[in-house]
Amino acid sequence: MTCDSNPCRIFVLRDQKILVDMSTQPPAIPMQGTAEDMGLCLADGYHLGSRDGLDCHAFSVPSRTDSPRGMDFLGLRKLFGVLDPGQYAMAVRAFAVLNWDRTCQFCSACGSRLKRHAVILAKECDACGFIMFPRISPAVIVLVERDDKALLARSSRFTENLYSVLAGFAEPGEALENVVRREIREEVGIEVKDIRYFGSQPWPYPDSLMIAFTASWAAGEIAVDNDEITEARWFTAADLPKIPDKVSIARWLIDWFIEKHRKEYK
Ligand SMILES: [Zn+2]
Repeated sequence: MTCDSNPCRIFVLRDQKILVDMSTQPPAIPMQGTAEDMGLCLADGYHLGSRDGLDCHAFSVPSRTDSPRGMDFLGLRKLFGVLDPGQYAMAVRAFAVLNWDRTCQFCSACGSRLKRHAVILAKECDACGFIMFPRISPAVIVLVERDDKALLARSSRFTENLYSVLAGFAEPGEALENVVRREIREEVGIEVKDIRYFGSQPWPYPDSLMIAFTASWAAGEIAVDNDEITEARWFTAADLPKIPDKVSIARWLIDWFIEKHRKEYK
């Protein structure tokens, strides 16, 4: 039994893909009953919360599990813009919770096996009382403007001829504004000002929280670190290179920049 008598949606993860009912239009996360009736063995689920009046539960199934007929296991990138936004947001949460559950098994203070906390989303150690919460790794992502141009860079991690905005993880004890200044300075050697919050995006591969900012150039000329960044340039909105697809907040930042300058190059 996964839910009480209320109807609920079940988020079933196999490896890093989630079960989607492809027989509906648009495709949807299955309701309780549809997936279970098709022979999936669901146990030890997490209650994710409720959405649109439906309770949502997340379950992991083994790698060998076959897709029920009319359903498919798909990754989050493929589901962006396909699933209803509310279901997509809950799918992101399902990934984050189940990835944490899989990788957080033992107490980091004493090494004993952890058990789930009875009330909150956490695990606790019976041996020493330590409580471990889901890990979230904050990273900033920044669009820097200079006059009518935006700074885009090629990362050594990119496999194709793709340019994006700069990003980097926060370090312990570091304010986000400082992460913005430090990352930009380290990667391309310039100073920024007018740092403004733009928005955020959780990205559960495995546990990132992307926190986006805009900023203005203040001083310095581009000098790439040749480690994380291999090339960086200033681009106008009318002359952009290949940029990330619409699933990421990197693209939302660049789209904001394009929209801002749309009138100028029409
Ligand atoms: Zn312990």
